[in-house]
Amino acid sequence: MKPFDYAIAKHLAGATSTVSDGWTPKAGGIDLLDRLKERIDDTEKVVSVVGLKELSRLTVEDGHLVVGANLTLAQLALSDLVRKHLHGLAEAAGDAATPQVRARATLAGNLLQRPRCEYFRQAELSCLKRGADHCGAAAGDNETHALFGAGKCSAVHASNLAPVLVAAGASVVVAGTKHRREIPAGKLAVYDDSNLGRESALRPGEVMVEARVPLGVTGSAWREARRRQSFDWPLAGCAVVQRGSAWGVAFGGVAPVPWLAKSVAAALERGGDVGAALDAMLATAVPPKTGRYRLKLLRQVALDTIAAVQKQGAK
Ligand SMILES: Cc1cc2nc3c(=O)[nH]c(=O)nc-3n(C[C@H](O)[C@H](O)[C@H](O)COP(=O)(O)OP(=O)(O)OC[C@H]3O[C@@H](n4cnc5c(N)ncnc54)[C@H](O)[C@@H]3O)c2cc1C
Repeated sequence: MKPFDYAIAKHLAGATSTVSDGWTPKAGGIDLLDRLKERIDDTEKVVSVVGLKELSRLTVEDGHLVVGANLTLAQLALSDLVRKHLHGLAEAAGDAATPQVRARATLAGNLLQRPRCEYFRQAELSCLKRGADHCGAAAGDNETHALFGAGKCSAVHASNLAPVLVAAGASVVVAGTKHRREIPAGKLAVYDDSNLGRESALRPGEVMVEARVPLGVTGSAWREARRRQSFDWPLAGCAVVQRGSAWGVAFGGVAPVPWLAKSVAAALERGGDVGAALDAMLATAVPPKTGRYRLKLLRQVALDTIAAVQKQGAK
């Protein structure tokens, strides 16, 4: 592992000031320490934010479910409050990783984890994100890469939780030394062909504080297909959120950012043919040669997720 200096933030103001001095925030450390061990991350200064109370709220406030950045996936999966107001978020958290990982991994770390592409994760392989002159995956193993929205890089956004927040119309609160701002969940993950290292809308020096989900969700679910049932990132995932007659549908693990399926949501809203809307959308996909089968998986996962939400409404 690459050596680094280590500090522990005692309060949010201390964390934002340290992070704006160039320190990298660490929550559970599952992703960050892995990157340091693999020597694909070159940070020399790490500050732990995991003990900050300001990042650990779980409450209902001003018409929103407030979910602190530091809540672990295990806490989200088991919380009655989360299950009541955004059941799909609890499902997505409970489906991710292993019990040991879920006990450490946080909401912020999950949303900001970097891609799982093998060519990105192994220092000896070529990756455009790490400054190589070509992408090893382009002519290599890219079966789990993007079905939608790829550019020079086709690695997918790996988070289970992000599509649920996007489908729910949630936002994320971030803080700097002198400001706080809200980023719509749909704009948090970034794909920028001219700057492949930039993967989120956080500005340098900003710390994620919490997610805010508007109340009024009447049904929500997350379903995914993965290679290993014991633990794995999704080959295809789907979040569906219903608010009365309004629907949100977002796919996970199939694009460089959580992928909104607006035409599928529109079909649900007008009581139209959802299967036909899905087929039309899947026809626009550009799957990797060995990953075409994931289109079928995604179709079935989406239908299963919609059925799960419709069942909640029927109760
Ligand atoms: C075996 C295994 C299986 C997995 N399977 C899945 C899966 O199926 N689905 C899935 O979604 N994920 C999966 N994961 C990924 C896992 O969920 C993430 O690695 C974890 O959530 C990261 O959270 P963390 O708190 O450890 O983040 P850290 O590693 O501490 O941080 C991750 C990134 O977020 C940044 N960060 C953390 N907190 C903040 C903050 N408050 N403000 C600003 N930046 C911050 C860090 O700087 C870092 O860049 C798996 C991981 C493993 C090891």
